[in-house]
Amino acid sequence: MAFSERVDRLKSSLIREILAAAQRPEVMSFAGGLPAESMLPKVDWDQMPASMGQYGMSEGEPALREAIAAEARSLGIDCSDSQVLIVSGSQQTLDLASKLFIDRGTEVLLEAPTYLAALQVFQLFGADCLSIPQESDGPLLDALRQRLEKHHPAFAYLIPTFQNPSAVRYSEEKRDAVAALLDEYNVTLIEDEPYRELVFDDENARPIVSRMHKASWIYTGTVSKTLLPGLRVGYLIATPDLFPYLLRLKQSADLHTNRIGQWQALQWLGSEQYHAHLAELRRFYCLRRDAMQDALTKHFFDLADWQLPQGGLFFWLRLKRPLDTRTLLKPALARDVVFMPGEPFFVDPEQNPGYLRLNFSHVAPDRLDEGIRLLASVVRGAYVV
Ligand code: PMP
Repeated sequence: MAFSERVDRLKSSLIREILAAAQRPEVMSFAGGLPAESMLPKVDWDQMPASMGQYGMSEGEPALREAIAAEARSLGIDCSDSQVLIVSGSQQTLDLASKLFIDRGTEVLLEAPTYLAALQVFQLFGADCLSIPQESDGPLLDALRQRLEKHHPAFAYLIPTFQNPSAVRYSEEKRDAVAALLDEYNVTLIEDEPYRELVFDDENARPIVSRMHKASWIYTGTVSKTLLPGLRVGYLIATPDLFPYLLRLKQSADLHTNRIGQWQALQWLGSEQYHAHLAELRRFYCLRRDAMQDALTKHFFDLADWQLPQGGLFFWLRLKRPLDTRTLLKPALARDVVFMPGEPFFVDPEQNPGYLRLNFSHVAPDRLDEGIRLLASVVRGAYVV
């Protein structure tokens, strides 16, 4: 069959395969980034105007664009409604940006580790991915500067607030320094912020794009982590030089985002209860984070090191004695527990063994300790063999 050359780069998604295996009800899954089912708001379709079933504008529903622009301005992002494009989940931003920027061999800059599905889509389009090591407060600035001196990447893709998978949140200083460097070298930033609102300590810093003065940028967010991932509603905000291209790429992809989902998202975002819902979500996830911290301290204290996440959905564990954590998946599944191996989050997986990403939002606290105990016994078992 004469497929496009791109198809040769199409890798199966390890995370999708793991999630499929984790469908059995007895399996305790620490693998996905799923919100807790009990925290999903209930949909009330009865109020929905029939017109929402009609074709809509490619840009998205005007009232939703307005609400998103207003929220972005409150974070210090200089933008108007006309710079907001509603997309089918922020994953679509990554796809549209890839189509806009990437040809075979185009260089792009990423954090090491970075979001697996972003890495996959950039590689699918043929990008040459250059990574920058992460520290506990953001990227290693010397490494970033060196990369920018020697290369001219089409863009840098960063997740500065509760990064997936590492849970790192960039400090004020690093946000300023990254913005200044990207401006200096005139490199476009794609800033991906699905977890900004899932914060436990109220200490979030302004987005990096709000600190930039020269280079172009795309800021992207989603309702997937705070409302319903099943709505498939996300957004991007882009500088005016990029927006018209992204809009046309959106039109060729799917004409417009699901209007029913947009309508429902707007009902919630504009409701009086929204802030109470967010506060409840934070409290709920913070308790689950604490439960996992307790279980890890009990069962993993001699096996791994980690930082306590101040938001987001994940713990990122580094084994004291590195091994390829992909080899732990089978024995873990045999014990009805599943997690996300760290290797696929790196551009060079073989060079980075020994990390595990554990989601703390999904498994109920009364089963969590047992799940972590089983996982620890799988790791111990691997050292004995
Ligand atoms: N970016 C990051 C960093 C994510 O973690 C996720 C979801 N796991 C996405 C984008 C995609 O989210 P959405 O559901 O909006 O497509």
